[in-house]
Amino acid sequence: MITIAFDGYSSCGKSTMARQLAATIGYTFVDTGAMYRAVTLLALRSGLVRFDDGTIDETQLRSLLANTVITQRLNPQSGQTETFLNGENVEREIRTMEVSDRVSIVAALPFVRTEMVRQQQAMGQNGGIVMDGRDIGTTVFPNAEMKIFVTATPEVRAQRRYLELKGKGENITLEEVLRNLEERDYIDSHREVSPLRQAPDAVVLDNTNLTREEQAAMLLALYEKRIEALQ
Ligand code: C5P
Repeated sequence: MITIAFDGYSSCGKSTMARQLAATIGYTFVDTGAMYRAVTLLALRSGLVRFDDGTIDETQLRSLLANTVITQRLNPQSGQTETFLNGENVEREIRTMEVSDRVSIVAALPFVRTEMVRQQQAMGQNGGIVMDGRDIGTTVFPNAEMKIFVTATPEVRAQRRYLELKGKGENITLEEVLRNLEERDYIDSHREVSPLRQAPDAVVLDNTNLTREEQAAMLLALYEKRIEALQ
């Protein structure tokens, strides 16, 4: 069993395709974005993010994080992965715009990254994992046997995310979604610790004009080729 890393920009469908590939080949799927979102929710709930200038009480967050467990479990009924913060299912709450607006700032904090990367490496230590994020192929698993870097135009990504959020009943405009994606991509690509980068050995998948079925077929073919090459 190998390790498969998916990285790329916000809302380009990485999670959907990574989850689908994991289900097809019987691997465990880990959504690392959900982990950073859960830490952000923790900071917001505890009043550690100032609303005027967005700064974070890092000392408090650091000590809270030391007693925090973030886990993910597959819901067999829905087929979706759900995220738990100290045992509480927070899957819905971590997808709100309130969390999306702050997550990249929280995810740029070095101590948050150190802790999340440690947990992610532990989850994948035996292989058989499909992990999706921003720094998986570069930092978490630089030796992953298969790396995919996903991209799509910002407009297509914003449109997809907008429809998803609307479907969940969020009161939001397409412009707000686009602005949030561009802001997150900027912060994620420019932070000091493990910024979003394409690993040199990653395969680029631009899915602007691809259907889900086409993407799934391409990924499965790539996986089979990798397995064959390793035998
Ligand atoms: O994947 P998703 O869009 O849910 O990720 C939310 C945010 O979490 C990203 O915009 C990024 O700031 C952060 N993130 C990260 N490193 C990862 C995964 C996500 O910094 N491996």
